[in-house]
Amino acid sequence: MPVDIDRESFLRDIPLEDGTMLRLRPVKPTDRDEVKRFYDVELSDTSSYMRFFGIRPHLSDEFLDRLCEFDPSSHITIVGIRQRQVVAVASYFAGKNLQVEAAFAVADRLHSNGIATLMLEDLAAIAKGAGWSQMIAQTMPDNRAMLKVFGHVGLRERHRFDGGFIAVEMDLGDDAELRRRSDDRDWTATVVSMQPLLRPRSVVVVGASTNPTSPGHRIAANLADSYTGSMAVVRPDGVAIAGLPGYAAIGDVPFPVDLAIIAVPQQAVPEVIESCGRAGVRSVAVITAGFSEHGGETSDADLVLLAHRYGMRMLGPNCFGVIDSRQSLNATFGSRRPEPGGIAFASQSGGLGIALLAEAADRHVGVSSFVSLGNRADVSSNDLLCAFAEDPDTRVVLLYLESLGNPRRFLPIARRAAAVKPVVVLKAGRSSAGARAAASHTAALASDDAAVEALLNAAAVIRVDTLEELFDVGVLLERQSAPDGARVAFVGNAGGPLILAADSADFHDLAVPVLSDSLRDRIAELVPNAASTLNPVDLLATVSPTALARVVSLIGASGEVDAIVVASVPLVEDDVERVCEALEAVGCDIPLVVSMAGAPGRPGRLPIFKYGEAAVSALARAVRWNTERQARLADDADTTTTTTALLDEPDWIAVRRAVRDAPCDDAGWMETARLFEMLRSIRLPTTVTETASTADDAVVIATRIAGTVVLKANVPGLLHKSDVGAVILGLQGDEAVREAYETFRLRFPTMNGVDIQAQAPAGSELLIGARQDPSCGPLVVVAAGGVEAELLGDSKVLAAPVTPAAARAALLGLRTARRLTGFRGSSPVDLDALVRVVVRVSRLVELVPEIVELDLNPVIAAPNGAVIVDARARVDVSRGVVGPVRTTG
Ligand code: ADP
Ligand code: MG
Repeated sequence: MPVDIDRESFLRDIPLEDGTMLRLRPVKPTDRDEVKRFYDVELSDTSSYMRFFGIRPHLSDEFLDRLCEFDPSSHITIVGIRQRQVVAVASYFAGKNLQVEAAFAVADRLHSNGIATLMLEDLAAIAKGAGWSQMIAQTMPDNRAMLKVFGHVGLRERHRFDGGFIAVEMDLGDDAELRRRSDDRDWTATVVSMQPLLRPRSVVVVGASTNPTSPGHRIAANLADSYTGSMAVVRPDGVAIAGLPGYAAIGDVPFPVDLAIIAVPQQAVPEVIESCGRAGVRSVAVITAGFSEHGGETSDADLVLLAHRYGMRMLGPNCFGVIDSRQSLNATFGSRRPEPGGIAFASQSGGLGIALLAEAADRHVGVSSFVSLGNRADVSSNDLLCAFAEDPDTRVVLLYLESLGNPRRFLPIARRAAAVKPVVVLKAGRSSAGARAAASHTAALASDDAAVEALLNAAAVIRVDTLEELFDVGVLLERQSAPDGARVAFVGNAGGPLILAADSADFHDLAVPVLSDSLRDRIAELVPNAASTLNPVDLLATVSPTALARVVSLIGASGEVDAIVVASVPLVEDDVERVCEALEAVGCDIPLVVSMAGAPGRPGRLPIFKYGEAAVSALARAVRWNTERQARLADDADTTTTTTALLDEPDWIAVRRAVRDAPCDDAGWMETARLFEMLRSIRLPTTVTETASTADDAVVIATRIAGTVVLKANVPGLLHKSDVGAVILGLQGDEAVREAYETFRLRFPTMNGVDIQAQAPAGSELLIGARQDPSCGPLVVVAAGGVEAELLGDSKVLAAPVTPAAARAALLGLRTARRLTGFRGSSPVDLDALVRVVVRVSRLVELVPEIVELDLNPVIAAPNGAVIVDARARVDVSRGVVGPVRTTG
């Protein structure tokens, strides 16, 4: 039975290599005339020859009709659409031996843009989902472009000469490499597609009114103020606004337009987007509000459709605009433009964005880019993350989000971005009240907090809880690099602030090591009357700024700490300035942070905080990010082993079929015997489990199992068996088994047979589980387990895919981890065996989305292995549909 294909999910708009958007979708019978037109006029003679291996054929009605049907078990076609016209066609037809034969054609005007690769990805995903194992493509030997597509897509391929053609055979079974490369291609194309929006060389404002307080007018005035690119306003009367030349229509603007800011009344927006598209504008930002949020006539999706029809990306609607410091561009209607610098900031709330920009300006903190996301109908925080990560002017990325967008894209993108530079996320909606507010605010869906936490952890981003922390970490990492370790020295001119700061270091798991005698001697030479040189280093109020700076420099060069916090009190008015100047003049080899009560912000490279606690907390987050990043890099280097392990993987499509076919009760809980069978098929260690429906059978099975056995009553709808006496442990001998069976029969009149298991040796009980979260994707849970799992509440949630290192860290991160590592003389359990279970479970929920909930409770861990004795799984086949590899959002 073929797995269902989620047809709808293959309809989407994807950025091409040149950054323009293309619609891809399964063909419809009504496309027939367009498809014919495509073959007749969009292909040059050469392209047609490459496609049909001869002179341009007359395409029969029969051929065209067949081409426009979509039946994955026999033949399908995917089309690429631009401005309502078909510009690319890719199909496969059933062949022999579980092979499909594929063919591709792309309009000449859109060649070399990655379209054939995208379509090949889709054909491969659908063919694989429909049960085909190989795809073959007959290719002319001189069709280098297509040979390159097949070679690069990421599938294992073989070439065979076949009567003047090259038959390229691609294996569909293992698409791990295709997925990896697809993520890469997504990243690269997305970065290119963001350029006209983030670094526009020209900007026009459509809808700037003469009223100086209107958003459109203010944006025009901000542009006029400082922007170094070409600019204009477009309004029906063609009048100039705020000194910017005015044109009556976008088509009249005499320069190519990278970005059009749209601030016209709601009902005019679709028409304006359309005219921008026709005029060749490369991207639009819609300031106008009131589309999906308030259920207006035009939806956000309608606007996106229009923008993408012309290949344009669209920011908003309902956004505050963008800032690009490199070009002194302030295309927002806020008046404060921060100084140029290294913070890139994207905000789902325009209001908070403006507040943070004002704060940045006040504190003289530099910003590279600012983007107000608005409703995120098209451009998402994921898209911006790619662009910010690649932007050489950006040192740290700050995100204020109310929802994470598409989790399948967030994880790989955020991981990759956070490996390059720190990404700090303030995710709103932790509380349920907050979640309600978020939903009514930007029509965003709130997600369950543990799931969000898991996703952010897996991505190794820095999560903060308040706007203040977001800004503090941003300031720190804009001005200094993240420390390489957790050892901190505190230097100052007064005891109180130093002690408080050192206390908070302890709280945040930073180390405050005692300085070496030789270092202390040298400090004493510089400041003979210092109160203490142990660490904290208290140089007393009499210390001069220069002496303090020299001590800092000395400690910085010692190699004894990884970062320094100067926690001082200003004694006279210009102290802050003098101390900072001295610190900057003398220099320091390691990250340096200053906290001075009442200190105003100042330009320069020193992050300045009012309080030591804030400085320390920001530093601690930077340290944790850097340590995790180093561990992640080592872990990634380790993925070769994971890949080798993949060769030993079960046939996941077969597992999916088994799961879809398994008997389940009304609520979707899978029959125990089938579940254990499935777990064994993916090489999870289960205890021997057999089912009997008479006492005699039970005795026979128990004898076969030999040794001590366990009997469990199969009662429909029963969730916790041991609560009601449906588990009897420690049975030895025929009589005991028979008696237990009879007990169950009397106790549970609705009993549906019993499960008989070998009794596992005593060990530590864990819960290893998984679930599909609608907004965060597949999750894995490890917890101290057994019947008391909920009571203990000692758990870690992880986002799949879980690496072996992450699994180990989660197990060792449990509060009761000492039960695993050896406690009160007990031997340590086989941690590797547990890690394998966690990683397998992660693969399972990742690759078998039909399993929406899974509980392995308990997994009994012993010194020589781990074994699953109880398992429950809930199945939902409506979820189990094959979707595309490349997604958006
Ligand atoms: P439930 O969770 O529905 O109450 P379980 O099958 O998990 O039922 O059994 C309850 C407890 O009994 C387990 O947590 C475990 O301590 C013990 N147990 C169950 N099956 C076995 C087994 N095969 N070997 C050893 N102990 C078992
Ligand atoms: Mg249990």
